[in-house]
Amino acid sequence: MNSFSFQNQTNIVFGQGTVNQLASLVAPYGKTILLVYGGGSIKRSGLYDEVLAQLKSIDAKVVELSGVEPNPRLTSVNKGIELCRSEKVDLILAVGGGSVIDAAKAIAAGALYDGDVWDFLMHKAQIKDALPIGTILTLSATGSEMNGNAVISNWETKQKRAFGSQHVYPRFSILDPTLTYSVPRDQTVNGVVDIMSHVFEQYFTLTENAPLQERLCESVLLTVIENAEKALENPNDYDARANLMLCGTMALNGGLISVGTQNDWASHGIEHEVSAIYDIPHGSGLSILFPNWMKYVYKERIDRFTQFAERVWGIERGSKSDDELALAGIEATREFFNRIGAPATLAHYNIGRDNLDVMAREAVLFGPLGNFKKLQQEDVKQILELAL
Ligand code: NAP
Ligand code: FE
Repeated sequence: MNSFSFQNQTNIVFGQGTVNQLASLVAPYGKTILLVYGGGSIKRSGLYDEVLAQLKSIDAKVVELSGVEPNPRLTSVNKGIELCRSEKVDLILAVGGGSVIDAAKAIAAGALYDGDVWDFLMHKAQIKDALPIGTILTLSATGSEMNGNAVISNWETKQKRAFGSQHVYPRFSILDPTLTYSVPRDQTVNGVVDIMSHVFEQYFTLTENAPLQERLCESVLLTVIENAEKALENPNDYDARANLMLCGTMALNGGLISVGTQNDWASHGIEHEVSAIYDIPHGSGLSILFPNWMKYVYKERIDRFTQFAERVWGIERGSKSDDELALAGIEATREFFNRIGAPATLAHYNIGRDNLDVMAREAVLFGPLGNFKKLQQEDVKQILELAL
């Protein structure tokens, strides 16, 4: 295990009805609130009215930024930054899924920065300060409700880039599993794949002697696998939704489940290149790419993949060779994604060879991708070809 420091400031307020704590959670930060939300799901569910009633009860002045896109765009972020400056916003309240929360983080950092917020995404500047953020999560997937990451798309340059900073961890996040009852089937599936992928990025590591972290990762994976189909069969199954929500938050909250180990993140990097050009849902991209990444790299440390097959998928070794067992685990992953209805090929989105070179080149813009195997441009291209 490696040395590490771990810090997470987010106050998680979890459970049915917890939106009624919003007023008291917001009050310490001031009166002017930028309410950030997406394309309208919170209006249809009635959550928007509940939020406004809570904010009214403390005489807050509410400024709104609506219409944040899935795969949130720089243009929305810049609108939010302008509002923060012109209205002197005290707190940004993000109500939605990862896209809304990520946009809120970029707004929070950009509002206190004297340059172009895109600098943070291009590693040209470091975030030194940010406005405080609170969130109400409506979709179990990204972990953005308890981490310092944001992923923003620049539609003009066809780039999708991420930053991470301690300054943009939400101060509080309200997690009411019943708010996810209305998440459509395909978004539930995307969320499940994203949560599992976040664990994969941490579980497939070259770091040795981290048995607790390995088991924490395996626990999250097993819990997601046990609950995904329950939530898909019965979208109003409280326990299934609650377990998925907790898994999403645990899977990516600054690395709790993988402290002291080296993470990978190559598959996320490749997925961002696909979404940057084709604007496909993040979870769908990961479903297409991750099993192919696994096939491409598993020989780097085969015992990690044989353990995955045995402990996560319950595959018995029997007379199987290491190679057969590792591949059986990868195949089980693909079968599970297929069973819940997640896509398996780029062809599913009519994506062909046209931009493979561009995506591979952009993926390694800041150097080789990943750690389990350091991927060069040619490796990325081969993984994309496997995914066609
Ligand atoms: P999302 O893009 O935030 O939301 C997807 C769709 O689900 C939207 O159309 C949204 O509609 C709808 N939705 C959300 N909650 C709903 C509800 N309760 N009922 C009905 N519909 C609902 O999805 P996401 O998977 O959470 O976020 C994806 C983004 O996060 C991607 O850009 C990805 O790259 C990024 N990401 C971030 C991190 C991180 O650590 N920060 C990690 C992984 C991925 P409305 O717009 O109408 O609300
Ligand atoms: Fe993700």
